[in-house]
Amino acid sequence: MNTLSKTKSIMNKYNIVANKRYGQNFLIDDNVLENIVNSADVTKEDLVIEIGPGLGNLTQYLLEAAKYVVLIEIDPKMISVLNDRLSNVNNYSLLNEDILKVDIDKLVEDIKNKENINFRKVKVVANLPYYITTPILFKLLEAEDTISDITVMVQKEVAERMVASPKSKEYGILTLMVDYFSSANIQIIVPNSSFIPEPGVVSAVINLNKKRKYEVKNEKLFFELIHKAFAQRRKKMINSLVSTGFNNMSKGEIEELFLKCELDFNTRAEELSIDEFIKIINNIN
Ligand code: SAH
Repeated sequence: MNTLSKTKSIMNKYNIVANKRYGQNFLIDDNVLENIVNSADVTKEDLVIEIGPGLGNLTQYLLEAAKYVVLIEIDPKMISVLNDRLSNVNNYSLLNEDILKVDIDKLVEDIKNKENINFRKVKVVANLPYYITTPILFKLLEAEDTISDITVMVQKEVAERMVASPKSKEYGILTLMVDYFSSANIQIIVPNSSFIPEPGVVSAVINLNKKRKYEVKNEKLFFELIHKAFAQRRKKMINSLVSTGFNNMSKGEIEELFLKCELDFNTRAEELSIDEFIKIINNIN
């Protein structure tokens, strides 16, 4: 049975109506499902964390490809479906939790101890609930000692923000966070018709390979800078930084910093490359 027929029969059997509040759009295109697992380069030595397994459509592929899969699903209705559907496999754990509340480092440690196994890499693979894409991505990027690769389905528009260039309207905080922690590549564009129900937007699969490329003197201040620089993205960046109280600096002090970095006082945040943001931080005493 292909995934489309399987999905329809599961939804019938368990009387399931996709819950909009949880961003439920089930992926039913087997070519796309295979493409995700291939893009993620999952091997039999890897631990995979799947966020929002739903009815288990992507899960069935992940369980075949990975050594072990941890499923984190918020909706109790999905939990009972998954327990039934996966009753013939045992290389997984299923958690009924909100991903935003899970301590990922601890979760991975617990799995290693409980199952007494080791993994080459820990990868996140998911068709994300779109209503919380950005907080999930920030959380995954910041769990940098644990997760090595992230392969996720997101709205196409969000994928474009993740790989945008300076001076474009897509360029912003998400672009800089992604660039700071990883190398990102869009894998495929996925039409609405690959899901039931169809989402209102076109989607894309993007792969983030975590690696550090930049040296920043004060990371916390760097994150503060990019958030405050883009707080009012149409304004001159100096004014945005002054009105948001960046690093408790006065306008004069910020102007001095701009001079030191050879930046024009009229500069807007979207005109600066990541290297220039980092230069600003590294020039603060
Ligand atoms: N992976 C499935 C379902 C994707 S839809 C498929 O591709 O067919 C998104 C899934 O994320 C839904 O199952 C939804 O219940 C789940 N979800 C929504 N919010 C969540 C949260 N905060 N934590 C964990 N799972 C969540």
